This record gives sequence, C-alpha cells and structure tokens, in this order.
Amino acid sequence: MPLRIGVLALQGAFREHIQRLEALGAAAVEVRRADQLGKLDGLIIPGGESTTMGLVAERWGLVNPLRQWVSQGRPVWGTCAGLILLADRATSQKRDGQTLLGGLDVSVNRNFFGSQRDSFEADLQVAGWNSPSPAVFIRAPAVVETGPGVEILAEWSAPDGRTVQVAVRQDHILGTAFHPELSGDLRWHRLFLDMVEAGAAAQANRSGP
Ligand code: GLN
Repeated sequence: MPLRIGVLALQGAFREHIQRLEALGAAAVEVRRADQLGKLDGLIIPGGESTTMGLVAERWGLVNPLRQWVSQGRPVWGTCAGLILLADRATSQKRDGQTLLGGLDVSVNRNFFGSQRDSFEADLQVAGWNSPSPAVFIRAPAVVETGPGVEILAEWSAPDGRTVQVAVRQDHILGTAFHPELSGDLRWHRLFLDMVEAGAAAQANRSGP
C-alpha cells in the first residue's frame, strides 16, 4: 500500500507538492475537509499566505482538527507559510495577530527574507547530506529561535551577520522556510515520507497485530 499523504489545499502551492509526492510513489490527496484527515498517513501544509490560509481554515472548521493532528503526534510538514502556521510563536504578523496551529517549538519571523529580497535561490548545506540542496525562497519566513527539542537541519547566514534556521525538525514535525516542491530536489519529500513511514510503523506497533 502506498503512503497516503494529504496536502492542505485551501490556498497556495499545493499542486506542486502533489506532483512531487506522486513522483515518489505516494498517494497524494488534496485536503479541504476535516473528515479527510482520518484516512491519511501524513500531511503537508504548503506555502502561500499564512494569514489567508489561517482564515480559510477557520471558516472551513479545520483549525481544531489540524491542531489535533499535530498534538496527536501525526507526521506533518510545513513549507514556508505552512512553517509559519506550525510555529508556536510568530513575529511581524499583521495587526491583531493571526491564527497559528502551533506545535513546533520555534519563533518565526514571518517576513524575514521578504523584507530583504522578495525571492531568491540559494544552495543550502543540510546536516548529513553529501551535496547542497538548491532552495527557492519566496517572501520567506525564517526561524529565529528554537526550543530544546528542535533539530536544526539547515541554517542561513544573513548579510547582516545574523544566522537563522531555514529547515528544522521536532519529532513528527518538519518545517522548511523555502519551497522544496519548486526546486526539484526530491530529497525533502523523501525525508518526509521516511518520517511518515516511521510514524506509521510506530502506530502499528502501538495498536498491535
Ligand atoms: N511570508 C508569507 C506569509 O506570511 C509566506 C510566503 C510563502 O509561503 N511563500 O504567509
């Protein structure tokens, strides 16, 4: 049975994730309703506009089901706006704040790169990988503070000398500030599918034969 991966399809770059997942043999599903979540092994929250995505999720009754998904330890990957939504804390929000799902013990600056350069590509050194990963940043956020349980997979040195994190993992949660679905580097989707597979195996062990 292929892994069943949902991609939240409220807004933003969900189609590209679906193509990448299918290229790796997963069954990819566009998710718009809470009742679709039960049948999935993993979930991707794509890039786009985190405030818009949060508002649509509220309107469609998805905020609590998505929070439950995260708090139940089910595998989830947020890219760009998706990373913002998964963060416990976000700065440079619109006035009155915005809806976050939370779960990932980090602070993100919503428009860390957007305020410097709207979009750009960069080669990232990724912990444990033997060649750099080409990364596409589009009005991208950055992780500016990580809690103790957060593993840093890739960092970025800003021109002002600050180092920020652009790929992080905490247990079942993966967060990337850039758009791996646009770069063609399938290693990020492979990494997430490996996390999902490990999660599914742990789940099967818990529920017994
Ligand atoms: N900075 C954007 C936001 O606040 C995210 C941009 C993106 O997902 N490409 O949602």
